[in-house]
Amino acid sequence: MNRTDVLIIGGGLMGCATALHLALRGASVRVLEKDYVGRHASGVNAGGVRTLGRALPELPLSVAAKREWLNLPELVGDDGGFRPVGQIRIAETDAEMERLRTRSRAVDALGLGYREQILQREDLYQQLPALAPHCVGGLWVPDDGYALPYRTTAAFRRQAEASGAIFQEGCKAELPRWAGTRWMVRAGASTYHAATLVNCAGAWAGRLASVLGDPTPLRPDGSMLMITARMERFVGPVVGAAGRSLSFKQFENGTVLIGGGHRAPVDLDTNHTGIALDGLAKAARTACTLFPIMRGAQAVRCWSGIEGFLPDGLPVIGPSRAAPALLHAFGFSAHGFQLAPIVGRLLAELIGDGASSMPLNAFAVDRFQEAGSS
Ligand SMILES: Cc1cc2nc3c(=O)[nH]c(=O)nc-3n(C[C@H](O)[C@H](O)[C@H](O)COP(=O)(O)OP(=O)(O)OC[C@H]3O[C@@H](n4cnc5c(N)ncnc54)[C@H](O)[C@@H]3O)c2cc1C
Repeated sequence: MNRTDVLIIGGGLMGCATALHLALRGASVRVLEKDYVGRHASGVNAGGVRTLGRALPELPLSVAAKREWLNLPELVGDDGGFRPVGQIRIAETDAEMERLRTRSRAVDALGLGYREQILQREDLYQQLPALAPHCVGGLWVPDDGYALPYRTTAAFRRQAEASGAIFQEGCKAELPRWAGTRWMVRAGASTYHAATLVNCAGAWAGRLASVLGDPTPLRPDGSMLMITARMERFVGPVVGAAGRSLSFKQFENGTVLIGGGHRAPVDLDTNHTGIALDGLAKAARTACTLFPIMRGAQAVRCWSGIEGFLPDGLPVIGPSRAAPALLHAFGFSAHGFQLAPIVGRLLAELIGDGASSMPLNAFAVDRFQEAGSS
């Protein structure tokens, strides 16, 4: 009863997407989630579906993930609230604009069939009429956008369950043990057995990886967001800035979500997330500077979600270097929501076929040891 082909630790979007793709291939899969599915980063993030500005080693994955997003209704029977309204990174100075031009050329040179387009000043204001008048241009990806995080995660979970995957919530996986031919994982009073183990434990994944022989410098932190009361529609695309920390979008219901890399302390043992008001105040000031209409906005709620960060900002995706039949996917450093649909597919390929259809070398778990960190 407690035996499956694959056991996944973590019921965030990574775990759900991996479970779905494995189940679609006919594998028996169990997901253990210590709280409830979508409780952490995957259910509370900013919903940014962004290829724009991704680190170049991550860009092929992100471009492939975009295709998954566009195909979501076919895959999971729900669009996850995905709206390809475009994402724009604005430049406020000529120097920032030059950096955006350099970035656009670097992306073209990759030959991925994907472009980040330069917006001249007049085109920028056509896209963003409510923007403060001092900006000089921008970089634009017209079919990036946003989605609804909890809805997306729930849709993947539902489809995975419909395809045969088992989800167990309130079920914390304790130290896994390799028993020669299979993994044994204790959770509460039960022991689960599986040929393959997948570590999708989000900010908690570093602890697991470390005890299983793959130490990484994963740092848990709280990413903060705030949302306003409904406002008249004044912005369509999702907006970031070349010279400031900003993530800014208005949903169809008129509420405006403001974030942008401001962090607060977290406690992995209690799930407690703090709020650092100075960070939120800075985000609010940036929003008001760039969109003067925001001076009349009313922030109604703020929160902080637990995420795992790695020093190079790239995730770990792929096999353990220390243990057999173990794969990791963690360290998404506040940009894993967009990647999850492709990460799930690639992990399922690694398990089912022994190789993935896209190279994952840049995301090797031992890259930090090679660089001399532990
Ligand atoms: C506020 C915020 C804003 C963000 N904005 C964006 C954005 O706009 N765009 C974007 O692309 N990304 C964004 N991200 C990042 C994105 O949300 C994450 O990278 C992604 O959701 C990670 O998914 P995950 O499944 O790996 O982790 P999680 O969703 O954290 O799931 C991991 C799960 O593992 C469970 N778990 C841990 N240990 C155990 C155990 N021992 N036993 C059982 N279960 C366990 C946890 O309870 C958790 O539910 C944001 C993140 C935050 C916090």
